[in-house]
Amino acid sequence: KPLAEAKLSTADIKHTTLYSGRTASYPLNISIIGCGLGGLAAAFCLARAGHKVSIFESAPAIGEVGAGIQMTPNLTRLLIRWGCGDVLKACTVTPSAIALRRWKDGELVGWTRWGDDMENEHGAPYYHIHRADLHKLLFDLAVPHINLHLSSRVDSINPSLPSPSITLSTGQVIPTDLIIGADGVKSMIREVVVGGPDRPVATGDAAYRAIVSTDDMMKDETLKHLVDEQEMTGWMGPERHIMAYCIRAKKEYNLVMVHPDDGSVESWTAEGSADKLRADFAGFEPRVEKLLKLVPSTLKWKLMDRAPLHKWVHDEGRVVLLGDACHPMLPYRAQGAAMAVEDGCILGNLFSRLSHPSQITPFLHAYERLRLPRTSATQASARLNQKIFHYPDGPEQQARDESMRKALRIARG
Ligand code: FAD
Repeated sequence: KPLAEAKLSTADIKHTTLYSGRTASYPLNISIIGCGLGGLAAAFCLARAGHKVSIFESAPAIGEVGAGIQMTPNLTRLLIRWGCGDVLKACTVTPSAIALRRWKDGELVGWTRWGDDMENEHGAPYYHIHRADLHKLLFDLAVPHINLHLSSRVDSINPSLPSPSITLSTGQVIPTDLIIGADGVKSMIREVVVGGPDRPVATGDAAYRAIVSTDDMMKDETLKHLVDEQEMTGWMGPERHIMAYCIRAKKEYNLVMVHPDDGSVESWTAEGSADKLRADFAGFEPRVEKLLKLVPSTLKWKLMDRAPLHKWVHDEGRVVLLGDACHPMLPYRAQGAAMAVEDGCILGNLFSRLSHPSQITPFLHAYERLRLPRTSATQASARLNQKIFHYPDGPEQQARDESMRKALRIARG
């Protein structure tokens, strides 16, 4: 009873990502739209809480899509709690440090040790992983406990009581107790919840993503160093930056290269031109030039944003949003996947306490109140990093670099 009304502190938020150890005495039929990272995390947590969960995914198969993802301790902590610690260790790379460099000459302006320090300070490690490997890990965790329907595009939903339902593109209508819109950045369910179309906001940026073979890098002394050191390296330049790190047992080097958008599309799978990429980053230090010569192909992704929503729960109280469907964010704080998985975790905790249908709507509002301030703040801070990474050469960039150099001098004694 008090959950919907209580004032919730940060400690409460941390607590709600723990498994309550309970099983709902009023189990629901829950339909999750979207088998992404957030949908799978929610499915696992809700199934463990005693509910009957079905995921509907439009893709015909779960394939090898995406590129590298950074896993911050708030995300790895949850997966370790779920018993995935060893699997995770086996398919990730632990960055030893983050090194921030000047675009033009590669001068090291900022450096922070990560490695074990991250675990000592935050209680969980920082990992780099391929999205496909993280997806498989969550898939293996959730799918034995749920019903998964692939090739099942949801065309519309009926959010209204007494009989909420989803309708597939085949015309099949499936009644359900609760609908979770985990359908990603172009969410259709979001429009039902907010009551109309919402417009994505162009951030002005686009990102090339590419994976380079480290076997090729090892043939060049200066590039070999990037692999051996196992640091995450960021090159900051006017209106553009690069983030680079090893994934997959250091066999692959993942590159995310952000630059002013010149007409790309908002898609995780759109191809870009490797030659255009090299031209767009001409003038970066010689190591970057060499690295980019090794790029065989690239994907290009227009970075769109959406302002935080004022609500995630449909007025009738049987539809709720999760992950990129309600809080898509720029990747500049590496929190897109982490926030989606946290959402699922908290829904699982709340609904493990369900003992009566009258609690469904209050629990959804409690979820919204727990999550919305945290995800909105994260969306805003990702936007702020866009500014900080991209200062034009001049006074603001010099002040930024000087404060980083100062911290670097202190860290290195
Ligand atoms: P998503 O992971 O986007 O999942 C949404 C799912 O919903 C998708 O599987 C989609 O097919 C499905 N869906 C959408 N509409 C419907 C519908 N009407 N009916 C049924 N199913 C539907 N982030 C990175 O940082 N690096 C990457 O390389 C990267 N690659 C990605 C590649 C792909 C193909 C996708 C979908 C996402 C990628 N992301 C990447 C984004 C990252 O995974 C998300 O930001 C984050 O995990 C939040 O996940 P989510 O579950 O909210 O949404």
